[in-house]
Formats: sequence, structure tokens, C-alpha cells
Amino acid sequence: MKCDIEIAQQATMKPIAEIMEDFPITKEDWEPYGHYKAKLSDQLLEKLNDRKSGKIVLVTSINPTPAGEGKSTVTVGLGQAMNKLNKKTVIALREPSLGPSMGIKGGAAGGGYSQVLPMEDINLHFTGDIHAITAANNALSAFIDNHIFQGNALHIDPRKVGWKRVVDLNDRALREVIVGLGGPKKGVPREDGFMITVASEIMAILCLAKDMDDLKKRLSRIVFGYTYNDQPLTVKDLGMEGALTLLLKEAIKPNVVQTIEHTPAIIHGGPFANIAHGCNSVIATKLAAKLGDYVITEAGFGADLGAEKFLDIKTRAGEFEPDAVVLVATIRALKMHGGVAKEALETENLDALQAGMSNLQKHMETIEAYGLPYVIAINRFPTDTEAEIALIEKWCQQQGATVALTEVFAKGGEGGIQLAEEVVSTIETQEKHFKHMYDLQDSMEDKIAAIATNVYGAERVEYSAKAKEQMRQFAANGWDKLPICMAKTQYSLSDNPTLLGRPENFTITIREFSPSIGAGFIVALTGDVMTMPGLPKQPAALKMDVDENGNAVGLF
Ligand code: ADP
Repeated sequence: MKCDIEIAQQATMKPIAEIMEDFPITKEDWEPYGHYKAKLSDQLLEKLNDRKSGKIVLVTSINPTPAGEGKSTVTVGLGQAMNKLNKKTVIALREPSLGPSMGIKGGAAGGGYSQVLPMEDINLHFTGDIHAITAANNALSAFIDNHIFQGNALHIDPRKVGWKRVVDLNDRALREVIVGLGGPKKGVPREDGFMITVASEIMAILCLAKDMDDLKKRLSRIVFGYTYNDQPLTVKDLGMEGALTLLLKEAIKPNVVQTIEHTPAIIHGGPFANIAHGCNSVIATKLAAKLGDYVITEAGFGADLGAEKFLDIKTRAGEFEPDAVVLVATIRALKMHGGVAKEALETENLDALQAGMSNLQKHMETIEAYGLPYVIAINRFPTDTEAEIALIEKWCQQQGATVALTEVFAKGGEGGIQLAEEVVSTIETQEKHFKHMYDLQDSMEDKIAAIATNVYGAERVEYSAKAKEQMRQFAANGWDKLPICMAKTQYSLSDNPTLLGRPENFTITIREFSPSIGAGFIVALTGDVMTMPGLPKQPAALKMDVDENGNAVGLF
């Protein structure tokens, strides 16, 4: 079979104007960005306010293997299949980060015959939104250091600047740095560090803002550090909210592209789901719901990360509810949860598969606890055997769960018809009783306990001395009523990446908190999760090139 980029480059795209013709909007509501990409107006959502919203389907998964389990692929394939059934459907996805694209995991534009196009652009610089976020983030850093250098009227304590610089690459050498070296004319030395851009609070703000005005308000509320007397300092104190909004005025406009089968896809914002909140923008999801009868959208990694944050953070910020969930599983990941080594995943192993079902079961219970109906999608790989598929189907029947074998990677929308039919019938026949996992009025400890015990299956939560002290400070600052954004490994339900399957009787350790007051949540860092990833020994980038005709080569 051809690789993703060969399939993508051989596909024929329609000019983007033809894709836009199917939307109930006028020429003023969008602008072309080259031949095959467009940006929607940041005012369009307000303009379509009175239009009925379509049904929202959230795609999530079990805990993944390092290669990803095909959520983006299933999201794109399901969108294509829905349109084959004449259900007017719009896909909403995140913008890929260069970190994983050049590092280990690969791109995030789907795979096989279920991809969004032009995949090279989408996986590389796309329309520059992530670069704009990097610039805005680093502008704030530059202004903080300049303020200290120019006399420090705000009494910024250089030891307590929590705001870090960012770059959208995996670069472990930048995790901890010292800036301002070189003597009095070069600045005031202080410890700083870099995060990957997709973990930046500004990325979260762009994704949670309702409109430009809300974007500016959220930017002004960012707490970047503290005075010598421990008073929080905000972007508003620095007078930077106008400049930061200006830097983001194009990035806030959602991008439209098409899939291989010309299904429209809105791709906007791209926070990671392990170290950030993991969902495309609120504006994109809500616009997709105004432009289609159905939205298929994805939240990153497993249901313990992306879906939890979608359901507890994003739905609150956007004031909406999803209508159904698709829970993606692969046979190879289930076998890994059943104890099989990565190298042996391609060999049939029914015992390991049976044992690994415990991971799927936990995520099913989680979605049920949120009161949402769901369909399990088995993303079929060429190495899956008939006996393995039969085992899963029987297991799901015994549980009373709806399951659909999905072949959208190999067959495009045609391979997702059964899934699409199950999703439509689930929405039409099953009731939803959506509820959040915790109440905002709960204490920080109670909110974290609710996530750790109900979503992860943990026995208890422990806090470092630093985290305990921070909880006291945050409560004194009035920040304890915000939702919690957990930063945790994606590989395990616990905070230890080696505990696969359905671990029991484990402790979640909260190492530290980080206030994202502009985004409107508190980040809780568990285990040893890091906000700047490193590169593997053989990065994916080693295969990348440009051929003699200027085409991208080696992108997956
Ligand atoms: P996720 O969104 O869960 O991270 P992706 O959809 O990005 O996963 O898929 C990860 C990788 O796996 C991509 O390179 C994709 O092409 C590949 N992939 C996904 N589904 C299949 C499949 N059914 N068969 C073969 N490869 C697949």
C-alpha cells in the first residue's frame, strides 16, 4: 500500500471556493489562503447565532501506543462516511505541531484514504497560526525582561516569573535556560525555560476564546509572575493585551480545508492533550455545528486526557454539549495493554487481546459516567486477524456496547459506513444525560480527586509540599474555583507510563501547579511529565526532503 503522502499527493483537490459554496455563507465571510485553504471571518459565529446547531460527535480513544491509534484517521473517515450517507457533516480538528511531526509520532492530518489536504501544508506551517502564537508568547517574555531592565516599576521578582518562552519544536536542551547574561547592558539574569508552543497558555486562550473581545480579555488576565511581595502580576499590568491581540488577529480566524473525498474540515488551534487541554478551538467546533448537521471532532490521546478536558473544560468555556462519543481502539494497542511487547504486536495473540480489553472497559465506564452515549470503533490494521476481530465483537456484545469495525484508512468513507450508521442511530435513539465530572465550586483537591478516582481509577492522590503550598496561595488569590487541566502521561491511566492495561490501587502524585488564569484553568503536573518534549534517536525528520519539483518527500 502507498504511504500517506503518496496517497495525499495523488488525490485531486477541489478549489477551496467550491468547498465554501456548500456553506450557508457569503463571500465576505471568508478569504482564500492560496488555492486550497481558506480562513473564516472571526465574526461569522456571531452572524450565524440564530442558526440551529448540528449534533456534535467527540472522537476519543483508549490509551495509545507511541504511534497513535488513529483518532484523526477515524475522525476524517467518519466525516467522509457521514457525507456518503447524505448527512451534511463538517470535521473539526487540531492543527499539527512540528514537534511530533519531526520527532517520533508523525503528522496529524489523518492517514491512508482518510486524510485532510494539503497534508504537507497542514503538517508544516499551515496558515501560520502556531507561529503567531509563538510570537505572541515570546513578545510577552521580551516585554517582561525589558520591564525589569528598564527599572522594574512593577517590582517583578525575577525569581518568580512563571511565564516561559516557547518554540514549536521538540528541543530538550531548552528546558531550562538562563537569560540576561553578559553584564548590566544585556539585562538582568534570571532562570527561564522553554515549552513547546502547543503547551503555551496563549494556545489554550486562542482555543477557548469565544471571539476577539474574549481573546483580549483572556490575554489581559494572564498571570506571568509575582512581585517581591507575592502579588500576582498580569498582562494588563504590563499594558500588553492590545499588542498580543494584534499579533493573533489572523490566527483567531478558523482555517477550512477538505478531505480526500472533499468533506469540509475546520482545522484550528492545536494544544497537546497530555500537557495542555488537547482540543481544537471552541470557535471551530461551534462554527462547524452551524455549518453542518453533524460535527465530527477529536480530542487528543485517550479518554482520560483529551476527552476529560473536552468535557470538563472546553464544554464549559464554549457552553455546549456533545451528543455522542466515538471510542477508537486498535487491536495492536489492546494487545500492548495485555502485556505484548511493541515488537510482537503484529502476531495474533488472543489471550493478550482479552487481557487488554480492561483498558477499553475503563474508558467505556468513563464515558458512561459523563452520561454520554457512545460507539466503539475498531480501527482495522492490516495485521489484525479474523479471530482477533471476532473476539472484540463478541466481547462488546457481551457488554451490551455498540461496536463498528472501521476500515477508513484503507477504504476512505466507504470503510466507515457501518460506524456512521451506528453513530446516527445512537444519537437518534439513545438518550444523553451529560454531566461534568466535578463542580466548579468544589475545592481543588476534590476536583482532582474526582478526575483521579473516577476517570483514571486511582486509589488516592498525593501532593508535594510545593503543590500543597500552591493550593493555599491559589485559594487566597481566588483561583480555586477554576477547572483543572491535568498534565499526565498519555500511555497509562496512571501517572506512570509503564503501567498499562487497567492499573489498580495506584497513587496519582501532583508535583506542582501552574496557573493559567487567562485560559481559565489550573494546570496540575503529575509524575514527571514535561512541557518540552525531546527528540528520539532517529527523528522522523531524517526521512524528510524536497524533490527536484519542489514537492515534500518523506512526510509519513
Ligand atoms: P491519533 O490521532 O490517534 O494520534 P492518527 O490518526 O494520527 O492517530 O494515526 C497515527 C498513524 O497511524 C498515522 O501515521 C496513520 O497513517 C496510521 N494509521 C492510522 N490508522 C491506520 C490503519 N488502520 N492502518 C494503518 N495505519 C494507520
